[in-house]
Amino acid sequence: MPQDLPIERIMQTGLLCCSPRTPLCEAAARMAERCCSSVLVMEGDAVVGIWTEHDSLQVDFDEPGAVRVPIAQVMSYPVVSLPPSTPIGEAAMRFAAENRRHFLVADADGRPLGIVSQSDVVLNQGLEPYLRLREVRAAMRPEPVILDGGLSLRDTASTMQAATCDAVVVRCGDTLGILTERDLVRFVARHPGNTAIRELASRPLMSVRADDMLIHARDLLIGHHVRHLVVLDEDGAVVGLLGFGDMLAGAEQLYLADLRDALEKRDQALAQSRRNLQLAERVIDSSLEGIIITDARTRIEFVNPAFTHMTGYSLEEALGRTPAMLSSGRHDATFYRHMWDDLQARGSWRGEIWNRRKSGQLYLELLTITAIRDDDGQITHFAALFNDITHLRENEERVRRLAYYDALTQLPNRRLLEDRLSLAIRHAHRQTQRLAVIFIDLDHFKQVNDSLGHAAGDELLMQVARRLSAHLREDDSLARLGGDEFIALLPEIETPEEAACVARRLIEAIRAPFRFGNREFRVGCSLGISLYPDDDTSVEGLLHHADAAMYRAKQEGRNTYRLFRADMHAHDDRRLALESALRETLETGAGLDVHYQPLFDRDTGRLCSAEALMRWRHPAFGDLSPTEFIPLAERSGLILPLGEYLLHRVVEQLRIWRSTGFDPVPVAVNLSARQFWQRDLVDWVCAELEAQEVPAELLGFELTESTLFDKQQQASQILRELRELGCTVAIDDFGTGYSSLSYLQELPISTLKIDRRFIQSLTDGGRGGQAILAAVTGLASELGLQVVAEGVETQAQLIALERFPVHRIQGFLTGHPVAADTFADNWLIGR
Ligand code: C2E
Ligand code: CA
Ligand code: CA
Repeated sequence: MPQDLPIERIMQTGLLCCSPRTPLCEAAARMAERCCSSVLVMEGDAVVGIWTEHDSLQVDFDEPGAVRVPIAQVMSYPVVSLPPSTPIGEAAMRFAAENRRHFLVADADGRPLGIVSQSDVVLNQGLEPYLRLREVRAAMRPEPVILDGGLSLRDTASTMQAATCDAVVVRCGDTLGILTERDLVRFVARHPGNTAIRELASRPLMSVRADDMLIHARDLLIGHHVRHLVVLDEDGAVVGLLGFGDMLAGAEQLYLADLRDALEKRDQALAQSRRNLQLAERVIDSSLEGIIITDARTRIEFVNPAFTHMTGYSLEEALGRTPAMLSSGRHDATFYRHMWDDLQARGSWRGEIWNRRKSGQLYLELLTITAIRDDDGQITHFAALFNDITHLRENEERVRRLAYYDALTQLPNRRLLEDRLSLAIRHAHRQTQRLAVIFIDLDHFKQVNDSLGHAAGDELLMQVARRLSAHLREDDSLARLGGDEFIALLPEIETPEEAACVARRLIEAIRAPFRFGNREFRVGCSLGISLYPDDDTSVEGLLHHADAAMYRAKQEGRNTYRLFRADMHAHDDRRLALESALRETLETGAGLDVHYQPLFDRDTGRLCSAEALMRWRHPAFGDLSPTEFIPLAERSGLILPLGEYLLHRVVEQLRIWRSTGFDPVPVAVNLSARQFWQRDLVDWVCAELEAQEVPAELLGFELTESTLFDKQQQASQILRELRELGCTVAIDDFGTGYSSLSYLQELPISTLKIDRRFIQSLTDGGRGGQAILAAVTGLASELGLQVVAEGVETQAQLIALERFPVHRIQGFLTGHPVAADTFADNWLIGR
């Protein structure tokens, strides 16, 4: 249970520190930049003070010098710290009791490890059940300070301090804004002088209604990275302000009441049991809480009627078994191990735990276990008391209506999804963007549930949820509608293809086997996609259409996806078919071939090298161009095995030529970005060459500029390794990308291949092409690069090239790409 987690699990590490001599404005600038709410003042290894955003209220903004004082003059000290093992619940109570917003977390030697703030506690969701049950009204600060926009910063700071509030509402004409301590920190950093606060307040101010549930407010705060909301009544009048601290304080009362209640009852029952067993038995019998007494080996000796009532198991059924009979499968082994460690160490454990009734239904209990010891201190019994608190979370109609998350997977549920979708639609409308809704339904989930049981079914759903989430972008939302149905919401989609691509990724993610313990099995899924605005503009419409599309996917073969509008699909179907055809082809290699195109020395006409070009002939699709299947292979990841296959074939061919009496020329293979950046590229190239005993000088690589551009440093390193092996490296298609020679100068490359389009432009009559070609080829030969003219098709082009320092010619004019045998027959010299 979250309140029992140690604070080290939620504390913010990455502390912001400064020396006592740091000017305040500098410290504040760093806080603002890193979005920290405090800075630790350190002298050597020792923490000597802290300055928090709350302290910014004391700054005199009228006095320019005030922000330049050394921080030591304005910091607070000493700094109170908590050990990292402090339970979150305890920290929450201390925040309230000591009226603090931060605690330093320090180890036994006083070394700072992190900071916990109230926000961390609220964000941690430990109080979630309480946030679900209470209205904003109950936690808000009523009648917040509302200031006129004309007020000065200094007066504002002192008003805030006098009113002990960390935020004020600012009237800026017709709209409302807000000014918080955090803002003041920024002003300390860049001291805007005494500007009127209407210029400085953040606008617009987000609002909630007084009768909204707190959990909704929390989601807004987190979702929009703001720390305060203004509370409005039905007529839109400001009735309150709500910040993280308020939520915490509000939720805490309930939490504490519950806690006290449980502890009191436990103490009473146990105290009495020691004094008078019979009396205790009566108490226990009539208790509304479930009670289990076990022996030291946790075998059940006794349960009370409330236990039977809650779990469905009678005393007779429970006797002699262990409480594991109630296990839901929802907690892992570490959870139980911690529970037992606590019991052994502290003699008690308290927390929330999901169990399962005899009927199979899950329920949430608040459980307190106490070890009972004899006079020698040996544990003789364990007593467990529990309350069914499921109802707290889901009983009332209202809570059900307002609960936003699915209890099993913790994903947003339908309600929250609908909220988000309608927000996303509005956003997409404003930005004239597309968005996609993907309906995901597992295939044959019912069979898993029926054959392996509910616990396995639940586990599967959780694993599915995890996998799906892992394959979505940060801005995407995943929700569970119930059962085995999920929805992914993808904002800012450009083309239907992009959504389809995500769909394929999700199908792949689910296709991999799932593991429970040592069992492994597979499920599939069917996906349906609807698009805004193409298919519909309403929440219901989009969900409905995605559902309908999913149905078609199910009917048309499962483990696939469909777009709601089938016509957006035509192109896509072919892609999908090609992709699986390529996958099959790769397994056997049948239909894949390599053609070789010669490159000749322009001046002597001698054959200098060749380029290897992939060919694919498929029985159904016919001859496919690499311009079609290479990008496809890249998108699907098949490029890696494909590239490996090609390289193997080329090196093998070089070996065959050598061993059959030919004198081969160097052959260059094309590397796509993904191939180039794969981790062990140089290693496997090297291994392949060694295996076939082919000298590295016979192998070259062609890369495009865009492959290298982003990560010049690393690219340079890999290229150098290839060059050190002895391989040549060429920049391909030069002139189509960045065409930055100054950049290429930095790279260890040997050859520059001028793109076909340049060569064409030579005879098109355009003068611009000539000028560029003159500059590029001139500079390249200055740099000592081999210059290749690609795609030379006509004699006219060849003649036009004469004026430029070009070394090699490649093109249909001098030789088409041909099969290896033809290449050898036509151009290679036999020995
Ligand atoms: P690229 O690297 O620029 O390859 C040269 C392309 O130009 C080849 O097309 C070649 O057949 C074509 N070509 C050669 N001379 C002429 C000419 O005079 N006129 C015209 N119009 N075209 C000429 P191809 O074989 O269709 O390959 C297209 C692209 O596919 C290649 O462009 C390369 O980017 C890619 N590719 C081919 N094989 C592989 C491979 O094994 N791996 C990778 N990653 N990409 C490859
Ligand atoms: Ca090439
Ligand atoms: Ca090229």
